[in-house]
Amino acid sequence: MWPTLTILLAAALAALSFTSWWRSSRARRETARLLRELAATEQLRREADDQASAERQTLFNSMVEGVMLLDSQGRVLLANQSLEQLFGIHTDIRGQTLMESIRLHELAALVERLKTEQQGLSAEIELPGAVPRHFEVNAASVLDREGRPQGAIVVFHDLTRIRQLENTRREFVANVSHELRTPLSLITGCVETLLDGAKDNPAVAEKFLRTIERHSHRLSNLIEDLLTISRLESGGIKLQLEDIDLREFTGKLLEEMQVRAAERNTTLLNEVPAGLRARADLDRLQQVFVNLVENAIKYGRAAGRMTVTGRARLDGQVELCVSDDGPGIPEEAKERLFERFYRADRARSRETGGTGLGLSIVKHIVQSHGGEVWVESEPGHGAKFFFTLPPG
Ligand code: ADP
Repeated sequence: MWPTLTILLAAALAALSFTSWWRSSRARRETARLLRELAATEQLRREADDQASAERQTLFNSMVEGVMLLDSQGRVLLANQSLEQLFGIHTDIRGQTLMESIRLHELAALVERLKTEQQGLSAEIELPGAVPRHFEVNAASVLDREGRPQGAIVVFHDLTRIRQLENTRREFVANVSHELRTPLSLITGCVETLLDGAKDNPAVAEKFLRTIERHSHRLSNLIEDLLTISRLESGGIKLQLEDIDLREFTGKLLEEMQVRAAERNTTLLNEVPAGLRARADLDRLQQVFVNLVENAIKYGRAAGRMTVTGRARLDGQVELCVSDDGPGIPEEAKERLFERFYRADRARSRETGGTGLGLSIVKHIVQSHGGEVWVESEPGHGAKFFFTLPPG
């Protein structure tokens, strides 16, 4: 009986332990599967999070505005690429304070004010430097669900270009007014003197009338140049491109300018090689040459030489040069020479009725042909004005 019972018990135990082993290993497998699934879910979640965060980062970095997120201690949590570019930051500034990373007292003060004034704040801030930069800064507190401040978000909008354009416009208006006022007040003065009695003395009257004539010309030149600039800038002038034989073109033009050259006894030389051709607008090209040759006559030495040369460059462009043997251009004036109203020799420009716009018109026309213009000069050894045109 006992052995049978023992056997039965043993069998039962064996069965039990097999079942529990089987159960526990199933449980283990089940647990492992669950864990695997959990891990997979977690992995998916993390990947989704990573993806969302990568998308956020991409979005953040693609913003034109510089954006910075600060924690409650005022330390940088995040800064986008635009911000790094705007401020020329090349290191990781996360964890730094505003004063450590951007070093602008006005900015630090603005963010500090957020602690007391809960609404968004904005200010215009100037970043000093060789070329000052201007920013509109908007700062706002970041609040948690209960409305407690957790940090701040600061957005920087670069206003530098707008401010530069405003400045240029202001300067332009001031310059135009000045240029108009000078000849006008001279004309008014002459007229008053004539009316006060000078008209009765023919010799004196003639002198005043000549002055009036000169300054009236200056005024009409100025208005003509201003209109040209305005049409060139607004794209109002459409180029009529044609194939031009440059030697023939320069020859005709210099002939027409002989009278002008004779006033200063200047010799005009055409050394453009035969067969050199360019694709350009005839009237505009004439304007370029007239301005450059007139300048060579005006600012070159009396009884000097003005030469036009040309060549086909290896890059396919045609290069032309108008040179003189006058006093040349001071080093510091060279880079500003093509600016509107800039004059290296103010007195001579006024005396000869110059508007200060000639070279700026030259630059516009050459650039509208896809070319470039530059000057080379060694003071005392004349000036050489170069420009390029597309080949004919
Ligand atoms: P402007 O009407 O005064 O001649 P431009 O724009 O044509 O105006 O020229 C700008 C300035 O460049 C001139 O005022 C003059 O000082 C300088 N300049 C131009 N051409 C020459 C030259 N060939 N030699 C010396 N200075 C020149």
